[in-house]
Amino acid sequence: MKKIAVLTSGGDAPGMNAAVRAVVRKAMYHDIEVYGVYQGYQGLVTNNIHKMARGTVGDKIQRGGTFLQSARCPEFKDPEVRQKGIDNLKQLGIEGLVVVGGDGSYRGAQRLNEEGIKTIGIPGTIDNDINGTDFTIGFDTALNTIIEAIDKIRDTASSHERTFIVEVMGRDAGDLALWSGLAGGAETVLVPEHKKEIKEIADKIQQGIERGKKHSIIVVAEGVMSGHECGEQLKKYINVDTRISVLGHMQRGGSPSGLDRVLASRLGGYAVELLMNDETGLAVGIQNNKLSKTSFDDIFSATHTLDEQMYALSNELSI
Ligand code: ATP
Repeated sequence: MKKIAVLTSGGDAPGMNAAVRAVVRKAMYHDIEVYGVYQGYQGLVTNNIHKMARGTVGDKIQRGGTFLQSARCPEFKDPEVRQKGIDNLKQLGIEGLVVVGGDGSYRGAQRLNEEGIKTIGIPGTIDNDINGTDFTIGFDTALNTIIEAIDKIRDTASSHERTFIVEVMGRDAGDLALWSGLAGGAETVLVPEHKKEIKEIADKIQQGIERGKKHSIIVVAEGVMSGHECGEQLKKYINVDTRISVLGHMQRGGSPSGLDRVLASRLGGYAVELLMNDETGLAVGIQNNKLSKTSFDDIFSATHTLDEQMYALSNELSI
């Protein structure tokens, strides 16, 4: 393979730049020409494709976001629109494509692979909700951002004897809420995968107050309900001073953590290796700290699950 391209798609995640850098550098090391597609699938269709030089990815490894930019492109589900993108790649003689993104981006990648562009997916999303990998690029950085926020909230919560509700990202996956709740010592974690009765939570807070507890922290994933709704529901059962913190997009930004940079570099390099070996239609990942590859078909035939042992532990530790 002489020419490949790389793009970032879907929601941005810290570490995407490090992944693109690894793809570009690894390919160049092996005398493969690399093109960057700006603005995700939209850029593929509008021909926003540019040749990368060694220096294009210089000074990017430490930056959050994605310098290639990302865009939502719902039209990409249409085969005729995708064909435009395929034609653009073929005109430049590009045979292989690396897509860094989440679940939706993988669907586009799978289609492209079926339609003649050899494609590899790299899991880039803070949600950690992709099958075929233990961790997605961006999860660790987002997790650390949330933990830092919880630590700060804990200081003020205990000074004023308040209950704080921290709303974190996670529409369908509770990983960010569970991991941050466990690491931040939250009293309650609400995840989309499990239903918890608000009355139970109120009773627990009440018992804590009676034992002399100075504060309570509840971490709620946005997919369960909003922090404000959680506060309103709690008020039906208990009279406590409640404050809500919605962390929002700050969870997506920031310089990638060491773990995310290393993960992104390993996965970026591995994606190029697979293309060089003519292996395609695969997503790369990390499983038991070993590089792994999974076909898109297998990725989509399984559903992401929460670590139930960890969920049980978080309940046990927050008595
Ligand atoms: P995140 O998890 O951060 O939301 P994502 O990759 O899941 O990332 P989406 O917006 O779902 O983000 O998908 C990104 C892009 O992938 C879409 O804008 C669209 O261009 C493309 N895409 C999504 N689903 C399909 C599909 N079924 N067929 C072809 N392309 C798709």
